[in-house]
Amino acid sequence: MGGTFDPIHFGHLVTAEAARWEFALEKVVFVPSGRPPHKKDYRVSDPEHRYQMTVLATASNPYFEVSRSEIDREGYSYTVDTVYEFRRFYGPEVQLFFITGADAILEILTWKDVDRLLKECHFIAATRPGFQLNRLGESRPMLPVEGRHRIHLIEVPALAISSTDIRWRVQNKKPIKYLLPEAVEDYIHRQGLYRPRDCGVYEKS
Ligand code: ATP
Ligand code: MG
Repeated sequence: MGGTFDPIHFGHLVTAEAARWEFALEKVVFVPSGRPPHKKDYRVSDPEHRYQMTVLATASNPYFEVSRSEIDREGYSYTVDTVYEFRRFYGPEVQLFFITGADAILEILTWKDVDRLLKECHFIAATRPGFQLNRLGESRPMLPVEGRHRIHLIEVPALAISSTDIRWRVQNKKPIKYLLPEAVEDYIHRQGLYRPRDCGVYEKS
């Protein structure tokens, strides 16, 4: 499961657990992005903070791991590089699933490496009940025929939670309790992340 995780929240964790359960995955590896190409317009928190928060958030689930793969790689992070790295590491027999939210799966359709990606791994896209399924259905014909069946949809409950909203809440001194694990909330406050002095860095979307 890739993401900026700035910060990681229950939306990510619920999605990962739902995917693990529905596809009987051996484990879920969270891969905090290094320098995401699609987010180069605004600053993202230090990768070490994002890594640390991801470790804290996943510690209590024995099926969850965190990878430094993208954080330790130079330059921008491209999903295809990470998938190839995982393939090399785990070998040809292992089935790889890339877990994303429905918003991200729609972006995937525009990635230049979508053909190569679909040869290497499956995609699990999480949607809220009823949400965006139609839009994906409409875009499906654009996908390479042999790869289409490798995109799976799962529904996860609730979750209007987003990192953008959480950053905005901290900046505006609103509560973030129950949106993310307590250890991550404590870390954010202790490290002074997303404070008003950073104002202007983040925009609520
Ligand atoms: P931001 O608001 O900064 O974009 P985000 O909350 O969307 O952050 P990301 O780190 O960008 O989090 O997301 C990582 C992955 O998790 C993406 O594939 C995204 O679609 C998915 N995701 C994010 N929030 C949710 C949620 N509430 N429910 C399900 N999936 C989610
Ligand atoms: Mg996002």
